[in-house]
Amino acid sequence: MARSLSYITPSQLISITRNPKIAIIDVRDEERSYDAHIAGSLHFPSDTFSERLPDLLRSVRGRDTLVFHCALSKVRGPSCARLFLDYLSETKDAGIKNVMILERGFNGWQAAGRPVCRCTDAPCKTHDV
Ligand SMILES: [Zn+2]
Repeated sequence: MARSLSYITPSQLISITRNPKIAIIDVRDEERSYDAHIAGSLHFPSDTFSERLPDLLRSVRGRDTLVFHCALSKVRGPSCARLFLDYLSETKDAGIKNVMILERGFNGWQAAGRPVCRCTDAPCKTHDV
């Protein structure tokens, strides 16, 4: 059971992103629709995040590592990750071992030249980063 938050850098994330046990959770709001996104990331906007916690937990069934990010991972990403941790602690063990935050968020990921996906599918079906 995850107990604390840790940070992951874009290069650490890219090295593990093909692991099927990882889910990337994008908590940006409307920016996702006009910016790109990390391939395969799930979209749970911060403005409705707390209401959708049960949906999120269902969506990540079978995964053991969740990586949250927003645009900069300064406010929305960490606060949603904390809400999720609180929710997990009230729920029976869902098999989630790690809850992480992507350092510098989507903007840092893109600025570092990491690949992004521009599809308009919801959810994004691309998994090749
Ligand atoms: Zn996509």
